Amino acid sequence: MKPHDIRQSFVDFFVGKGHTLLPPASLIPDAMSTTLFTIAGMEQFVPVFLGAEPAPAPRAVTVQRCLRVAGGKSDIENVGRTGRHGTLLEMLGNFSFGEYYKTEAIRWAWEYLTQTLRMEPDRLRITVYVDDDEAAQIWQREIGLAPELISRFREDNFWDMGPTGPCGPCSEIFYDLGPEVGCGRPDCAVGCPHCNRYIEFWNLVFQQYDREAGGMLHPLPRKAIDTGMGFERLCMILAGKTSIFDTELYTTIIDALPTSSAKSPLPKGEAGVHQRIIADHARASVFLAADGITPSNTDRGYVMRFLMRRALRSGRRLRLPDGFLSTLVSAVTASLADAYPQLREKQAATVAIFAEEERLFDRTLERGEALLASLIADTRSRSQTQLAGRAIFELHDTYGFPPELTAEIARENGLEADMAGYRSAMDEQRERARADAQKKRADVRVTAPANIDLPGSEFVGQETLQTRGRIVALFDGSGQPVAALERDAEGIVLLDRTPFYAERGGQVGDRGALARDGASFEVTDTQYQDKTYQRIMHRGRVTSGSLHTGDDIDAIVDPGWRREIRRHHSVTHLLQRALKEVLGDGVAQRGSAVYPDHTRFDFDAPHGALSKDEEGQIQARVNELIRSDYHRSVQIMPFSQAIAHGAIYMKGENYGDVVRVVTFGPSVELCGGTHVESTGEIGHFIMTSESAIAAGVRRVEGVVSESADRYWTRVRDAAERAGDVLTAPIEKLPESVAHLADRNRDLEKQIAALQAEIAGQSAAQHLHATKDVDGVPYLVVRAEDAAGVRTLSDAIRDRFSTGVLAVVAADDGKVSVLVTVSDDLVRRGISAQKILSAMMVPVQGRGGGTHAMAQGGGKNPAGIEAALAAVPEAIRAASHG
Ligand code: ATP
Ligand code: MG
Repeated sequence: MKPHDIRQSFVDFFVGKGHTLLPPASLIPDAMSTTLFTIAGMEQFVPVFLGAEPAPAPRAVTVQRCLRVAGGKSDIENVGRTGRHGTLLEMLGNFSFGEYYKTEAIRWAWEYLTQTLRMEPDRLRITVYVDDDEAAQIWQREIGLAPELISRFREDNFWDMGPTGPCGPCSEIFYDLGPEVGCGRPDCAVGCPHCNRYIEFWNLVFQQYDREAGGMLHPLPRKAIDTGMGFERLCMILAGKTSIFDTELYTTIIDALPTSSAKSPLPKGEAGVHQRIIADHARASVFLAADGITPSNTDRGYVMRFLMRRALRSGRRLRLPDGFLSTLVSAVTASLADAYPQLREKQAATVAIFAEEERLFDRTLERGEALLASLIADTRSRSQTQLAGRAIFELHDTYGFPPELTAEIARENGLEADMAGYRSAMDEQRERARADAQKKRADVRVTAPANIDLPGSEFVGQETLQTRGRIVALFDGSGQPVAALERDAEGIVLLDRTPFYAERGGQVGDRGALARDGASFEVTDTQYQDKTYQRIMHRGRVTSGSLHTGDDIDAIVDPGWRREIRRHHSVTHLLQRALKEVLGDGVAQRGSAVYPDHTRFDFDAPHGALSKDEEGQIQARVNELIRSDYHRSVQIMPFSQAIAHGAIYMKGENYGDVVRVVTFGPSVELCGGTHVESTGEIGHFIMTSESAIAAGVRRVEGVVSESADRYWTRVRDAAERAGDVLTAPIEKLPESVAHLADRNRDLEKQIAALQAEIAGQSAAQHLHATKDVDGVPYLVVRAEDAAGVRTLSDAIRDRFSTGVLAVVAADDGKVSVLVTVSDDLVRRGISAQKILSAMMVPVQGRGGGTHAMAQGGGKNPAGIEAALAAVPEAIRAASHG
C-alpha cells in the first residue's frame, strides 16, 4: 500500500462507520489555543469538548498535520535519533462528541487494524490507565485478548495537551517489531526502557475532564472519544520497517539530497542523523510555509527559522552544497501533494521563502561563525566548561544566531551552554526596552493612582458628541487627587458620563472641551485609567474659571476631530477587508493606530512586501468599498457567536464575553471604536506607504477625506517643483531622474578610481617602513580612521606579497585592528589570530578570525603603541614555537 492509500483507507473505514470527514485545521491553531502550533487532531475540537461550541458532526474523522516542536510535547531532540519521532507528523483520528464511547472506539480500532489492514493480532499489545477496569474489560471480553497482553500505566495512559484543557485516561496500541530489534532481556515488554521493540502507534483517548490552571479536574459536559494514530509510524509498520525514516515518506526526500563534492567528515551513523533531521525539518518548514508562516525573529516565525537553520547547519556538517534546502521543496511536495494539493499551489512561493532564508543564514554564519569559534576557543583556553550566557545572547542579538543552535555547536565542542545566563541577559534587554517604551508613553498616559476607589464612567460617545456629566474626581498634573483645579492648571478630570472616546483598540483618545458657567477645560487627550477600561480620564488644562469635584459640566467632543477619526477608523476596516481579498486570508491584523489625519495597519504578510500591482489593487478595492456607500450596522452578541459569523478579530486582544460587531457590507469586525454611518462619508483613500516593521510583518499607512486632499496637493506640488528644477514635464520625471542617477554613478566610479590610485601611492610609501624579525618581513601601519583600516590594508597587501601586516586606527575613542598574514607564512605556523590576541591586551579589546586574517576592536587608544610593539614579539614567538 502506498502512503496515500493508507490515509484513504483510514478515512474510508470511519466514514463507513458513520463518521463525517472534516477538513484538518492549519498548523496555526485558533487564537484561544494554549499551544503555539497544532499538536494533535483533537486540538480544533477543544471548544467542542468544553461545550463552548456545538459539535460539527456527531462523529468525525480527520487527517491532521501536527507540529511538535515547542512546549511540553516537543520532540525535536529525538528527531533522527529515535526512528519514531518527527517534529512534523500526520495524525489519523476518529472522534465522537458524546455519541459513542470506549466500546466502539476499541472495537473499531481493532477491526481496522486486523481486518482492513490485516495486521497480525499476535503482534499487537495494549496499555490502559491504571484503574481503568472498564477499558481493560473491553479489550479482554469484547476483543478476546489475553490479560498478559494488556499493561497498566499511570502517567503514560493519561493524555493531556498541556497543563490545562481537555484530558482523560487513554488506551494505547503498540506493535511488536520482533525480537530481532529487542534487547533480549527476559523481562522485556511494552514500555521497556532498554529497547524499542514495542512501538506505540495509536492512542485512544477517553476525553473526560477539563483541567483548570490550578490542576483541578472538572468533568466535561459530555464524554468524548479522541483517537490519534501516527501516520508515519503506521506506514513504517505496514512497510515492515523499524524506523519511520525508512519509509518512502522520508526516503524520497533523503534521496533527493544533492550529493556533495566534498566528502562528509562525519561518521556514517552521525551523517544519517543529520540527513533525517534535514528531511524532517524540510517537511515541517514546507507545511509551515503553506500555512502562511515565514521565518522571522518572533513567535511561530522564529520556530520556523530555527527549524530551517538547524537543517541548514546539518547540511553544512554533511558538506552539502549551498542552496540544498530549497531544492528539497519539490521532493517534499511530491511526497505529500496527493493529500495536500495546496503544497503544489504554494510550491513556488515556498521555494522563494527557503531560498531567502538560506541566503540570510549564509550571511549570518559568515559573520557569526568565526566569532563563535573564537569564543569557544577562548572558553576552553580558560579551562572553563560553560559557554557564557552573555556570549550566547550577543550572538543572537547581533548575528541572529539561534541560541539553541549556539548551544548545540558548543556541545559538539565539548562545552555546556549557560542557557539560564542567556535567558537572564535576554530578560534584562526586554526590561530595558519596556522601560524605554514606558518612558516614551509617560507623557500621554493618565497617571491617577490606582489605590483610591474611583467610580467608573459611562461612555455615551457612540450616540452623541455632547452631554452633561458630573465631575467625580480631579487630579493635578502629576496625578495626585485634588478638590479643585484652578485657571491654567494642568490636570485630569474624571466624569461619571462622557462622550469622549478613550484610547483603545488602536483609536486615539478624543479631544474637545469641558465647559460650564465661565469655567472651561481644554481636553487634549482621553485615556482609560487602566486596563479594566472603566474610568475615562480627560487630560488637559483649565483655560478659564476653575473646576471642582461635584460640579456638573458639559462635555463636548471636538466634532471635526471626531469626524476625521471616524473616517480614518472606518477605512481601516475596509482596508483589512481589501488586504484579505487581494493577498489571501493569511493576512492577520497585528495592530493598528487610527489618528484624525492618518491610519496605519500592521499585519502578518505571509508573502513579504506588496508588489506595486497589489498595492494598486488594494487601494482601488478600498475606494470601491467607499463608493458602494455601505451602511453601518452594529450588533451586540456573545463572542463565540460573533466568531461563528466570521467576524474578524485580532488574536491576543481581550474582547470580553459580549462584543460589538461592526459591519460595512462585506466587512465584519469586532470593534468598540467610532465609525461613519455609511462608507461614502470617508471620501477617498490614498495608500501613502507600505513597509516592513519586523520580519513577516508589514505596515500599510493611508489617509482619507481632508488629509487625502492635503496629501495629494503636497505630492503634486513636489512633483511640479522637481519638474521645474529638471525642466521636465511631470510625466517625464522618472526618465530625467534616472538619467541624472546614471551620470552620478559614472562620476562616483571616476572618483573611486582616483581614490584607489592615491591610496596605492600612499601604500607604496608605507612599504618603505617594512621591518624584519627572524627573517619574517612585517609592517605596522596606522590608518586615519576605522573606515580606512580595511582600504589601507587592501591597498598595501596588493604590493606586499609575503609578510605580516598590521593596520590600526584610533577613532572616536575606539581602536580598530586588522592583521593579515601571507599564505606562505601561515603555512610556517604564523597566525593572524595569535598576533591579534597579543595586540588586544594593551588596547583592552577582543576579536577573532582565521590564521590568515583577524580583526578586533579595543577601547584603550593609549595602548596603541604597545599594541604595535607587540607585533614583532608575537611573530618571534610563533616562528620559534
Ligand atoms: P511518544 O510517547 O512515542 O512520544 P506520545 O505519547 O507523545 O508518543 P500521543 O500524544 O499519544 O503520542 O500521539 C498519538 C500518536 O501520534 C502516537 O501514538 C504516535 O503514533 C504519534 N506520534 C506522537 N508523537 C510523534 C512524533 N514526534 N513523531 C511521529 N509520530 C508521533
Ligand atoms: Mg511524545
